Amino acid sequence: MLSLGKTMEQTLILVKPDGVERGLVGEIFARLQRAGLKIVALKMVKATAEQCDKHYALTEEWMKGVYDKAKAKMESLGQPFPYPDHKAYGGMIKDGLVEFLQAGPIVAAVFEGEQAVAQTRKLVGATEPASSAPGTIRGDFSIDTYALSNSQNRPLRNLIHASGTVEEAKNEMAIWFKPEEIVSINATVDPVLYGADRYRLAK
Ligand code: ATP
Ligand code: MG
Repeated sequence: MLSLGKTMEQTLILVKPDGVERGLVGEIFARLQRAGLKIVALKMVKATAEQCDKHYALTEEWMKGVYDKAKAKMESLGQPFPYPDHKAYGGMIKDGLVEFLQAGPIVAAVFEGEQAVAQTRKLVGATEPASSAPGTIRGDFSIDTYALSNSQNRPLRNLIHASGTVEEAKNEMAIWFKPEEIVSINATVDPVLYGADRYRLAK
């Protein structure tokens, strides 16, 4: 039995309709798995409006984040950002997301591992694919921009959702999975990744 630290986390992943439709589920999950993250729950879902509504909770913090990130990018390009209010803008983005997530099948999964939330976000990349670093999922597989998505009045097509914090992950897992659907796996690779006694010389 491995003794694991307090930083072993679980995180909620959704491959959004664009990722499913483009046949990228395997590629996306392979990237997370090869980093050492483990799938502990998995399903293909036709999302309900209620699930999508809960998933993108319209908090003040989220609306501000959505607004500030897009405004900063557009201003850095010297392009107009004609939305005066983070509430109206955030509400519009959320409505688009609720529609987007229901527009086709999505794949929901829970990944587990050391600091899984932050590790996954690192592998996923920035919100806007065009600004995501090469080597990240969004950077390598999408070229969508704020400019294009906003001009078409739709959310960014950035392939994947990954929880932003441990707290968010807990809330989101409850939306997409029953507790009994999340399994516990003792993988043979665990001692290689996490075993305290591995690679010590016998004394
Ligand atoms: P996610 O929560 O999906 O993992 P994220 O945490 O990188 O992505 P959020 O700020 O939480 O980004 O926004 C949620 C989703 O809403 C984004 O992934 C994107 O699809 C869409 N989105 C966010 N901001 C905008 C925007 N300004 N214009 C268009 N779509 C946006
Ligand atoms: Mg988010």
